Amino acid sequence: GMPAMPAPTLAPRKKTRKIKVGSVYVGGDAPVSVQSMTTTKTTDINATLQQIAELTAAGCDIVRVACPTQDDAEALPIIAKKSQIPVIADIHFQPKYVFAAIEAGCAAVRVNPGNIKRFDDQVKEIAAAAKDHGTSIRIGVNAGSLDKRIMDKYGKATPEALVESAVWEASLFEEHGFHDFKISVKHNDPVVMVEAYRQLSERGDWPLHLGVTEAGPAFQGTIKSATAFGALLSQGIGDTIRVSLSAPPVEEVKVGIQILQSLNLRPRKLEIVSCPSCGRAQVDVYELAEKVTAGLEGMEVPLRVAVMGCVVNGPGEAREADLGVASGNGKGQIFVKGEVIKTVPESQIVETLIEEAMRIAETMEPE
Ligand code: SF4
Repeated sequence: GMPAMPAPTLAPRKKTRKIKVGSVYVGGDAPVSVQSMTTTKTTDINATLQQIAELTAAGCDIVRVACPTQDDAEALPIIAKKSQIPVIADIHFQPKYVFAAIEAGCAAVRVNPGNIKRFDDQVKEIAAAAKDHGTSIRIGVNAGSLDKRIMDKYGKATPEALVESAVWEASLFEEHGFHDFKISVKHNDPVVMVEAYRQLSERGDWPLHLGVTEAGPAFQGTIKSATAFGALLSQGIGDTIRVSLSAPPVEEVKVGIQILQSLNLRPRKLEIVSCPSCGRAQVDVYELAEKVTAGLEGMEVPLRVAVMGCVVNGPGEAREADLGVASGNGKGQIFVKGEVIKTVPESQIVETLIEEAMRIAETMEPE
């Protein structure tokens, strides 16, 4: 068929340098990727690989694993080899694990120069080892662990402090001719975080990894991340994202993908358009929407399904969708591409919608 027109976005992506994280490109014209981090002990290789498999199935592009001890470092070669997606080793404090992770075949290493003593002296060797192995680096500046020199100067983790730290650390790698790195400047306050990334993006063409630290439990963390990433991505800033939630990492991936889909930075898949319900509703809209969502989980085509509580706005909205239902009088009018194809008793709405969705999906191609 005809190639689909790309969906409009709010701003062109800012041109950043393209780097490689294993098989995934980050920056430049590469699609914004979604990352998450395992919560298992890295030493528990099977559990970690199992979680990585779950993340991969959920659509995660790149996964990070913590490496706080020698035993964790020793688990990295198998994890890096068996993971289906690129693995980034997350290193704090101990430069020796940076070298171990590079040797282990990790796609990238995240370093936090703020908490590695005498980091400046180590950069030359890190850059040389990374270059040898084709490993990229993330310079992960974090409000909670800023360099003492910068904290003394700014008093607290302001956007300017985060940016100065990042630019300084970037220059250390650049002095050694190493450019295969991306940068993050994370803060738990979306306002500070957004401002820091905006300023950083003005200062260079480094690919940027977006994240709000300690974003919180699922509800708060989702909103904080969506707000902050939305503000930046809508200005073309951000090349890879990680939503941090105090919740299972698969949830982080789902939220990340949904943010990108909402901004047309990733093709939309199944979309349930359900009304908020109101006093006119003649059916339990929440339950109906939930059952339809569950029944169609994993659908790979951009199908829009409208679930409407009554016949006031119902048919209008349902007509705009590929498929929809408007309920009333204990019945559901089922619409396909704007036409009422049948009316079924309320008890059959869910199964009818799922049946019709499957039938339509077979005629559609993934975007
Ligand atoms: Fe209320 Fe009907 Fe609109 Fe749903 S579709 S919000 S029930 S008026």
